[in-house]
Amino acid sequence: MAEILYGKPVADAVKAGLRSRIAALKEKGIQPGLAVLLVGEDPASCIYVRNKGRACEELGIYSETLRLPGDTEAAVLSAKIDELNANKRIHGILVQMPLPKPLNEQAVIRRILPEKDVDGFHPFNVGSMVQGINTFLPCTPAGILKMMEYYDIRPAGKHVVIVGRSNIVGKPMANLLCQKSPIANATVTLCHTATENLKSHTLQADILIAAAGVPAMIREDMVREGAVVIDVGVNRVPDAAARNGTRLCGDVDFDAVSRRAAAITPVPGGVGLMTIAMLMQNTVEAAEKQP
Ligand code: NDP
Repeated sequence: MAEILYGKPVADAVKAGLRSRIAALKEKGIQPGLAVLLVGEDPASCIYVRNKGRACEELGIYSETLRLPGDTEAAVLSAKIDELNANKRIHGILVQMPLPKPLNEQAVIRRILPEKDVDGFHPFNVGSMVQGINTFLPCTPAGILKMMEYYDIRPAGKHVVIVGRSNIVGKPMANLLCQKSPIANATVTLCHTATENLKSHTLQADILIAAAGVPAMIREDMVREGAVVIDVGVNRVPDAAARNGTRLCGDVDFDAVSRRAAAITPVPGGVGLMTIAMLMQNTVEAAEKQP
């Protein structure tokens, strides 16, 4: 049976490291501040935003959530971002995605000052990441790297196969893992919906990262014996036995794949906790860097 790679001890270790940095900032009269903009009422987004607020509270990071109606015009949203860009109390700005249509996500991301872009989605930060320049890294891939480090999973020289090429998970993950760095140095294959014979690729993975958003799509027969499996997917599926009739599940068929993999992350309780911890880390870093 696979070792289960829980996110909690790793997230706790990250947060423990942040406490001393937050205390040092406090001595200089600085409290890190995070503003979260939520447009509309997407239920999953509301939960994510609430969890981010709680994490800030736990660490003593100042946070404010701005809730805007789903029909907010682009100009109004831009003006809010401009206000936050100029607000000295706020070191990090995050706009919760997805945005309701017809808002243009890329334009919104570009409006945030790169030095306050704690999600690491601004093209300036993405470009810096690709070039291996120290910058805010997107929270989920950065959290996965942290988990690998914590559990002594060394990607160097290994074949990592990633399923999913979104701008927030798959692509940055691939970029980070192929950097010439002791914590990366992997050979990376990036799969997507146009990939032919997905299984032939996943079966070659020493480390398989599933980030497709398709419940339990990674079956046992798609995983090599002894592989490390990182499940990024967070999918809500019907479950008659659950109190509210649904439950969360990842992109990996957890029970079956656990029989074959050497190690596997659970959903919930795995990568998701890391995403928030890394957001906290980026916010503290933003406060340290801003004058
Ligand atoms: P997107 O929908 O933006 O991207 C999904 C990617 O997966 C796309 O590149 C798509 O390919 C690919 N894909 C979808 N279906 C298949 C398939 N059958 N075979 C191969 N590739 C496929 O999703 P995100 O990256 O935003 O999120 C992915 C999952 O991770 C979701 O479940 C999301 O909820 C979760 N998530 C979890 C986080 C956490 O903290 N744990 C944080 C962020 C996301 P194509 O490009 O060709 O369409």
